[in-house]
Amino acid sequence: MQHTRERLIGGIEAGGTKFNCVLARSPERVLARATLATTRPEQTLAEVGAFFAQQAREHGTPEAIGLASFGPVELNRGASNFGHITNTPKPDWSDIPIVRTLARELGVPVAFETDVNGAALGEGFGCGAAAGLEHYAYVTIGTGIGAGLISNGRPIQGFSHPEVGHMRVPRHPDDQFSGRCPFHGDCLEGLACGPALADRWSVDPGGLPADHPAWAIEAHYLAALCWNLTCLFAPQRIILGGGVMQADGLLDRVRADFEALSGDYFQALESAAAHPYLARPGHGGRSGEIGALLLAERLLANKREHGGQGQ
Ligand code: ZN
Repeated sequence: MQHTRERLIGGIEAGGTKFNCVLARSPERVLARATLATTRPEQTLAEVGAFFAQQAREHGTPEAIGLASFGPVELNRGASNFGHITNTPKPDWSDIPIVRTLARELGVPVAFETDVNGAALGEGFGCGAAAGLEHYAYVTIGTGIGAGLISNGRPIQGFSHPEVGHMRVPRHPDDQFSGRCPFHGDCLEGLACGPALADRWSVDPGGLPADHPAWAIEAHYLAALCWNLTCLFAPQRIILGGGVMQADGLLDRVRADFEALSGDYFQALESAAAHPYLARPGHGGRSGEIGALLLAERLLANKREHGGQGQ
C-alpha cells in the first residue's frame, strides 16, 4: 500500500507565564507537546526553536506554525511593527518582534493572532462550545481579562484588536478596592482579574469559599461584561474560560446576575439555540492550542489558494 506523506503543522500558545508548543498532523492529532516557562524573550524563543528542532529530527519540519500570543500585539499587516508584542506591562517583552524572530528561528511561515482570538477560533472547532456558530465571543478571566470576538468566523479587527478587558463597568456598591490595572486602575480587568481578587481579599482566590462575598462582587462585574458584549455585539454565545471561572458556583452567579440585567429585553436569548448563552469552553484548556493549529491550517490553505502567498 502506498502511503501519502502526511502534513505536519505546529502551534504555539504564547502566554505571559508559559509557552505551550505543539507539533501535530491536525488539531485532533497532536504528536508532541512541550510547556516552556516564559522568561526573557531571547531565552524563551530559543527554547521554542529547540523544541521544534528536536521534533524535526523525530517527525519532520512543520509546513506552517500558528502563533497565538499574549499582548497587546500588532496584527495590522501594513504597520511597521506588524508581528510585535507592543506595550505589554510584562518586563522585557515590550516591542518584541515575536513573529519575525520565530519565523527566522524556525524557518517556516508563521500565522499570527492574539491568544484570545486563537482560543476563540479553537472553540469554533470540533466539539467546542461555539461549534457551528459564526458570531460569538470567547472571554478568559485569569491573570488578565481578554476576549476574542468572532464575526462571520473571523476575529474582529479594527485599528487594533479589541481590548475587552479594559472596558469600564459600574462598581459594585460594596466594593472599595481601587483596582490594579497599571493603565486605568479600576477598569474591568483592574477590578475582576485573578490578581485583583487576590489583592482585594489578601488571599489566593482558590482559597475563597463559594459563599464568600468575593464571588457576588466578581459575578457583578462579569455579568456587566457579558451584558455589554451582548448589547454591542449580539453574539450567539459567550464562552467564559480562564482560571477564575473554575471557582465553584461562579458561572451560575454570573448567569443569574446577567438575567437580572437583561430581563427579557433580547427575546432571541430565550430560544433553544441560544442555550446555554453563557457557556464553559468545550475544549477545556485546549482551546488555545487548537486555535493555534487552525491558524497554521488556514495559512496553508491560503497559500494553496493564492499560489504561494502566505496569510
Ligand atoms: Zn485597564
